[in-house]
Amino acid sequence: MAEFTMTINGKPVAGSKTVGVINPATGKVFAQVPDCSKAELDQAMEAAQNAFPAWSKDINVRRKVLGDCAAALMSPPEGLARMLTMEQGKPLDKASQEVMGTAFWCQYTSTLDLPVEVVQDNAQSHIEVRRRPLGVVAAITPWNYPIMLAMWKIAPALLAGNTVVLKPSPFTPITSLMLGEILRDIVPPGVLNVISGGDELGAMMTTHKVPRKISFTGSVETGKKVAAAAAPDLKRVTLELGGNDAAIVLPDVDPKAVAEKIFWGAFENTGQICSAIKRVYVHEKVYSTVLETLGDIAKGVKVGNGLEPGVQLGPLNNKPQFERVSELVEDAKKHGAKIVAGGNRLGGEGYFFAPTIVTEISDGVRLVDEEQFGPALPVMPYKDVEDAVRRANATTYGLSGSVWGSDADRAAEVAKQLDCGSAWVNQHLAIAPNLPFGGAKWSGIGVENGPWGLLGFTEIQVVNVVK
Ligand code: NAD
Repeated sequence: MAEFTMTINGKPVAGSKTVGVINPATGKVFAQVPDCSKAELDQAMEAAQNAFPAWSKDINVRRKVLGDCAAALMSPPEGLARMLTMEQGKPLDKASQEVMGTAFWCQYTSTLDLPVEVVQDNAQSHIEVRRRPLGVVAAITPWNYPIMLAMWKIAPALLAGNTVVLKPSPFTPITSLMLGEILRDIVPPGVLNVISGGDELGAMMTTHKVPRKISFTGSVETGKKVAAAAAPDLKRVTLELGGNDAAIVLPDVDPKAVAEKIFWGAFENTGQICSAIKRVYVHEKVYSTVLETLGDIAKGVKVGNGLEPGVQLGPLNNKPQFERVSELVEDAKKHGAKIVAGGNRLGGEGYFFAPTIVTEISDGVRLVDEEQFGPALPVMPYKDVEDAVRRANATTYGLSGSVWGSDADRAAEVAKQLDCGSAWVNQHLAIAPNLPFGGAKWSGIGVENGPWGLLGFTEIQVVNVVK
């Protein structure tokens, strides 16, 4: 019997089948969730379609409902953050921050407006450009920030007047199902449906005839499948995909202070962040101090079950990801890389991997070229900043990047040369609800957040009136 229910047309649905969810700290199944059938998916889509006409009418009603959702999430049920730790692995304080962030994102988004731009208004004519909702949005999310990334889609999609069917990752479905349960009595029936199931359920959503938009966050590989599946029906897509963010450290930095910030820009959430630092290019003048400091920090971090007090980094979220990170580190060793810290699994159970700092590695090795999405960071020296920029840009990814230097203006000039969606200076992971976030090249199509993200859930309509 499922312990958590799907939300379809405002009602709890236990599902005809269930599937287990694994706690990554133990490697063992700890809960059962519904495994949504095709018939249940059809019901969710139909409910969303039926709810659309009424919901799309009045933004003031929608704003009020979203405000109420945010208020409910500001005092979340006890156990929501704990469940996030148990399904995702992150430390409990970080899980609580994610829940609060979810509430805050919802609250902020509820204050946005859909612009009406008057292009001409005179005795002869009135022309305005308006924004209309698209219809039903299929929202598909990954496992690294499950509840927060769900809200990045739900709040703007609903504010714009769309209705939503949300499917979380099969590795972290619980908090999204709980989100559906919390909001069930606040949002009108059918407006927000939450279903759970495997990758094949995601594929069924993208080919389903009802949705007019797919808002997807996940890997590049799946993103391409989503784009292909959307094409025959010309469904709109927003794709938030992977990254291989470079950090470039200029010679004028305080190397110890910068190393600390770079460490957390890379290892937060056990490195499982699309826009985490995934490779570092350090000027040769400060290279050895930066490397040594990164190694010292990595060795001192407390890794463990996120429910235990004082734990700073949890396990990797799932077995395939654990195996991938292990494989990339082994491959680096085979190619002559030197491990400064970590390099091995931790403990006998769960998916723990020691925070790993790698040197004597170069571009062309998989750990540098691919997205590791885990706690293993290659650190490489450079002589000329032009060369560092060229290497940072020599990738199909383009999510974000950062440049670190005491002369912030000079560092900003370098940052502007990075081919990516967010170019940060003296910081990384500076993601905020009022700023657009998205990737260049294979890192995505479209953006989320702020007024820009909201517009992604709309279509333009020109109203052109001759008087
Ligand atoms: P994934 O692509 O394996 O899965 C993401 C979601 O897609 C899951 O819900 C999954 O069930 C579903 N899915 C799988 N196959 C599908 C298909 N054929 N059609 C439709 N849906 C399908 O990604 P993941 O492993 O869950 O997440 C890690 C990836 O997500 C990393 O690459 C990371 O960089 C990326 N990510 C990007 C952002 C961003 O905002 N750019 C944020 C977080 C994570």
